[in-house]
Amino acid sequence: MTVDETLLPIEPYPCPECFAGLVRPRVITYFTWLGQELITVPNFPAWVCDVCGKREYDEQAIAWLNILLDPNAGKSTFKKRKTHLRAKNHTPPQRPALDS
Ligand SMILES: [Zn+2]
Repeated sequence: MTVDETLLPIEPYPCPECFAGLVRPRVITYFTWLGQELITVPNFPAWVCDVCGKREYDEQAIAWLNILLDPNAGKSTFKKRKTHLRAKNHTPPQRPALDS
């Protein structure tokens, strides 16, 4: 009986890189850059070759992550504003002459 295999939706497959290993589902820590920030995602699903270490990431998980990390998504709350310090307390712009 091979009941346990039904728990994994995807079975290990031969590695297309080294042709020697098997690429197996694992959870890894995924690293990606979001602008200047390095994002680490623990427990990320991936397939890893047990011989050459080639990694393939779960497409659905990547898509999900891209939604989470979409720069347009959390813009208002997540953005640093470093370049906005130049607001001098200057005199207001000249009014147009009103004596006509
Ligand atoms: Zn391999």
